[in-house]
Amino acid sequence: MAVKFCFLLFALFAPLAFARTLDIYVIDVEGGKAMLVRGPSGESMLIDAGWPGETERGRVVKPHDRDTKRILQALREAGVQQLDYMVVTHYDTDHVENVAQLTAQLPRPVRTFVDHGAPFFRGRPPTERMQAYMAVRDKGAYRAVKAGDRIPMQGVEVRVVSSAQQMLPAPEGSPANALCAGYTPPASWNDENAASLGLLFTYGRFRMLDLGDLLKAEEFDLMCPVNRVGTVDLFMAGAHGMDISNSPVLVHALRPRVAITNNGARKGNSPAAWKVLAGSPGIEDIWQLHFTVAQKENNPPENFVANLEEVNCRGYWIKVAAQADGSFEVTNARNGFRKKYAARP
Ligand SMILES: [Zn+2]
Repeated sequence: MAVKFCFLLFALFAPLAFARTLDIYVIDVEGGKAMLVRGPSGESMLIDAGWPGETERGRVVKPHDRDTKRILQALREAGVQQLDYMVVTHYDTDHVENVAQLTAQLPRPVRTFVDHGAPFFRGRPPTERMQAYMAVRDKGAYRAVKAGDRIPMQGVEVRVVSSAQQMLPAPEGSPANALCAGYTPPASWNDENAASLGLLFTYGRFRMLDLGDLLKAEEFDLMCPVNRVGTVDLFMAGAHGMDISNSPVLVHALRPRVAITNNGARKGNSPAAWKVLAGSPGIEDIWQLHFTVAQKENNPPENFVANLEEVNCRGYWIKVAAQADGSFEVTNARNGFRKKYAARP
């Protein structure tokens, strides 16, 4: 009888006990990209792995494990023992070239590698570190995804919206995007940025979009003449907040409530992109990984900036915890400042 009663209690309260959040750690890798997503069931995905070292004219001149350490710290914090997915948005240094170093230090092997497929190097041979990535990737389970594909994660829909310059097919009834009229995007560079893998996360009513370093030409393909994405709660600013991305046809049609910029002290968050984000209809806050040194006026209040120092930066992350009802909370790891965003009515 007692056992039965206990079981009943468990059955009643279990859904409460297991009501989990979708957690996102936007890790500071000094103007590169590394973002950890932990689904409500505990499944995990790392999107890009930061820098392998200091670079000069695109070549690594001084290797370091700074970003590896920061990512490992985030994995520990999130209680992730094994990465279910290692996603590479594209093959630029600050996204892919640290993957081999990182994966060598993980306690367990990555379950599945995901990227956009064949490189868009335009005649450039792959670097040593890019080759190291491909070697690690090809030893494990690997999936090159296409726009429209889904990456399975329990309780969360992870939809590929862009990959290798192809865009998500327009869902039936996609609304026309009025912002496209009279706008011509700059020509695409047809490079790795253009090939970026873009992911749309839907957890109940919460929606978050991350497009890697996708360029304005491809943003246009995704959002014009019809908006294939809809609106989102959270937008990860494109290309570290550089002006090569973040066109109004994208950002203003997405109507994000919150934007997070993975900039460095002197990389990204350009004045033009800041203006687009700050002027986006319905935007409530912009959070940044770094205080932008060059234009002091283009910064949110200090509580919304994870790292204020340019030298000897401690590498604090910004954490997002989203609920299935569409509400979410953002935390600045530097000082514990947090802000709750209630579910949209
Ligand atoms: Zn980048």
